Amino acid sequence: MTTSFIRSDDFAAFLTAMMEAVPVYGPVAKRSRFVFERLEAPDELRLDYDVTILPPKKLFFPPAQDLLRFDEAGVEAALEPTEKVLLGVHFYDVKAIDQTDLLFSERNYDVNYMGHRETTTIVASNIQNVSGRAFFASVGTDVQPEGHDAFLTAIEGGYVFETRTERGEALLGYGAFQPATDAQIDEAARVNAAALEQCPEKLEHGTEEIATKVRAAFGDDELWNELAADCFSCGTCNTVCPTCYCFDVQDTWNVDQSGQRTRFWDGCLTEDFAKCSLGDGGSENFREQRGQRFRHRIMRKATYLNEKLGGPACVGCGRCSAGCTADIADPVRVINRIMAS
Ligand code: SF4
Ligand code: SF4
Repeated sequence: MTTSFIRSDDFAAFLTAMMEAVPVYGPVAKRSRFVFERLEAPDELRLDYDVTILPPKKLFFPPAQDLLRFDEAGVEAALEPTEKVLLGVHFYDVKAIDQTDLLFSERNYDVNYMGHRETTTIVASNIQNVSGRAFFASVGTDVQPEGHDAFLTAIEGGYVFETRTERGEALLGYGAFQPATDAQIDEAARVNAAALEQCPEKLEHGTEEIATKVRAAFGDDELWNELAADCFSCGTCNTVCPTCYCFDVQDTWNVDQSGQRTRFWDGCLTEDFAKCSLGDGGSENFREQRGQRFRHRIMRKATYLNEKLGGPACVGCGRCSAGCTADIADPVRVINRIMAS
């Protein structure tokens, strides 16, 4: 693949040409924060964002997604994937997409996720501003981001554009790119390395050490109850997480026997997540206590999935830390506390 350079003055024309050919999504400002949205104009793109409210997984796995529609005549799939470009994804979110790609395809191939995923060209971008609770530099450091087609780095006077796949290479046709010089490539490497130095939070131990000690703390009910004492069971820490992928499925019926089957994001911190029917009106909630639910989330992020994913199921984005009203969800504080106990 190739490494090219495009001048800042030519970047808007590149975006415009791409947007005329295909829908382009990227980070845009929403009041004082940022969200991934479809771009309507090139100047909406904010590659200087720190972190988005919701991760880019919402494009492949929407908060509410119809899976199928039915009526008296039969059933049909609701999936209608369209080609699109997702621009400006930070590397920690690419790592999270790698995880959901694996989890939605390894056994039961999930066409409703993969259909959107396979029609999306992803262009990652360097982190120009680091969010206040990020710790991406100290988590899963052995895991490299894979699932992107090109990588864009802002340097003096323009952008270095490294292509990773044929899909990424095809985007070069939309802009006035020229081969990058060695000096531009070196500057891009320096810019990307510098972002890693700016994380405000830091895990103090390696992945294996953390996994072992967190798992060993499983039976310490007093610890988990104390950590979860202020938890509202709101599920925000699940909802904003790029690596959470649980969902609930509901059928909606209309009076004419038509309807749809829809899946909705669900979260293991909410009170009824682990509630099961026992029949005859009875039920059992096998994680009834807040401490049990809080423990489950930390176990999932730090230990349970490590072998399958090759690293922790947390990419250090800091969204959960920033989103938790009680300010108790921060994996750095929880894990550093467990490691110190
Ligand atoms: S840890 Fe925080 S964000 Fe998560 S459910 Fe509890 S109160 Fe909500
Ligand atoms: S657990 Fe928190 S910091 Fe880790 S990936 Fe999820 S939202 Fe980001």
